[in-house]
Amino acid sequence: MRWTSHGVRQPTCLFEAAVFHCAVMPVCACGHAACFAPHGLWWHFHRRQWDDRFGEARRRFWCRRCRAALGRKIAPLRIEAPHLTAEAIALPPPDERAWRRAVSRHRA
Ligand SMILES: [Zn+2]
Repeated sequence: MRWTSHGVRQPTCLFEAAVFHCAVMPVCACGHAACFAPHGLWWHFHRRQWDDRFGEARRRFWCRRCRAALGRKIAPLRIEAPHLTAEAIALPPPDERAWRRAVSRHRA
């Protein structure tokens, strides 16, 4: 976690995004971005034991627009954590117990 100059908590990994109820938004160099709801996305990574820190998680995404235009998978430049909205893409969320276990582990 880090703080902005305005004193706002900024998540630095998918788990923190879920704890703070932020969306997860990979942003491509072409300007295209996609918004994901954080809980299901964290769970998707967690089950695969993928690194969920934004810098590493970046490599697991690719831009649909670039894929269509170039025929290649281009990883996003960065991951942002904007306000979560109802339009965010929601993957199946973790069950309640798995989530609570992760939260208590995180606090320890
Ligand atoms: Zn792109």
